[in-house]
Amino acid sequence: MPLRPAGKQILLSIFAPLLAATSLASAAAPWEEVTYNGNEYVTVRSIKTFYEFDSMVRRGNKIVLENKAVEMRLAVGGQDLWMNDIKFVFSYPIVIQGGRYLVSRIDLAKLVDPVLRPEYIRPAAPFTTVIVDPGHGGKDPGAVSSIGHEKDFALKVAKLLQAQLKKRGFNVVLTRETDKSLTLTQRVEIANRYRNAVFISLHFNSGGRGRAHGIETFTLSPVGFAYYGSGPKDPDFASKTGNNRDSENIALATAVHSTVVKGTARPDRGIRRARFSVLTGVRHPAILLEGGFLSHAHEARLIANPTYQNKLAFSIADAVVKYKMATEKMTRRP
Ligand SMILES: [Zn+2]
Repeated sequence: MPLRPAGKQILLSIFAPLLAATSLASAAAPWEEVTYNGNEYVTVRSIKTFYEFDSMVRRGNKIVLENKAVEMRLAVGGQDLWMNDIKFVFSYPIVIQGGRYLVSRIDLAKLVDPVLRPEYIRPAAPFTTVIVDPGHGGKDPGAVSSIGHEKDFALKVAKLLQAQLKKRGFNVVLTRETDKSLTLTQRVEIANRYRNAVFISLHFNSGGRGRAHGIETFTLSPVGFAYYGSGPKDPDFASKTGNNRDSENIALATAVHSTVVKGTARPDRGIRRARFSVLTGVRHPAILLEGGFLSHAHEARLIANPTYQNKLAFSIADAVVKYKMATEKMTRRP
């Protein structure tokens, strides 16, 4: 099967419509800015104007913005949003004040804008190498289930991914090729030896009392963002190495997350923010993928199944092609 054209098709079906839809966005549109609880917000109405959405309606507890190419749904009072059915998690809730819906300025700048307008991402560095980091290893098994350990499934998928990426013309580096212990610092050191690369850490989840299931993708919290799960009251204002890649991080996460959710047909738990050591220390665009829950009986059986492992590897590899094409598009722009 010709892999590159397939990748291109996926790119055009997900990323490019977002880009095409917003390239005419009016730079002159005035932003309605509001300070609320000490944070800077913009109104959803000015998001509608700036990104040229045709309609803005309230449906249940969601505000829906729509034009020909993009449907954006925002959960009022919550932190979830969907762009073309891909789930993202904001750092600050969407609030209502005086009849106006407000989105935090930092969520707009660090999440909405790089996804809707990847052509404005700077720097959009070209890359030829993919660093694949199988989580855990050796003394550290990661999540443990009756049918196997996270560290072994992560290594299996990493090797399948390595093969798929090589077929698509990438150089591939694995942070570990065997069942050995590696500290988080060592993983960062290995990754930072390379230039022109992206970094993908592979993990499987556990928790949720056996009920949680689905795909999560983590990317580094921008400066001033809360750590996911700690609530918006605990932002961190120190800049990390990985923050040089904020816009590329969310673009890479969008490409991988959307393609993996579609490719595996597992529930979408969203693109989330965290300050995991590998994400803070790596100088390349970096994400951490949780490819399902080992604590969920059905999903654990899938994770142990070579068909599912191949779907994961194939989807991630296609997503890397998609992201590369989007970044090449960016770098060709004046
Ligand atoms: Zn893990």
